Amino acid sequence: MRDEDVIGMVVAIVIFAVIAAVYIGLIVLGVTIAKRKNRSPHWFWFAIHPVGLIITLIVMACLSPLKRCPNCSQTTQQYARLCGFCGYNYEAQGAYLPPQQQGVYAPPPRY
Ligand SMILES: [Zn+2]
Repeated sequence: MRDEDVIGMVVAIVIFAVIAAVYIGLIVLGVTIAKRKNRSPHWFWFAIHPVGLIITLIVMACLSPLKRCPNCSQTTQQYARLCGFCGYNYEAQGAYLPPQQQGVYAPPPRY
């Protein structure tokens, strides 16, 4: 084996390793984005093909994040006010309710 052949093989292995690292890194990035948006990371099975990886990454970046219901753990649209699965009211949670005033005279409402 000549020296040039060995150098050529080492360069090819290094280039392949860099491409593989970038490829896996992009898949990990996409799965991270999917989890942060409460989307299924299983979409990245399309990333087995490089074109599938690019398309899935672009689609995942454009999708709006989903909201996970604390009651039934199903996902619904980001701005939903009620859970579509169990009817959980998102706005009832975390909404500020003023405390009831005690000992203050409130006139009865007139009709
Ligand atoms: Zn729910």
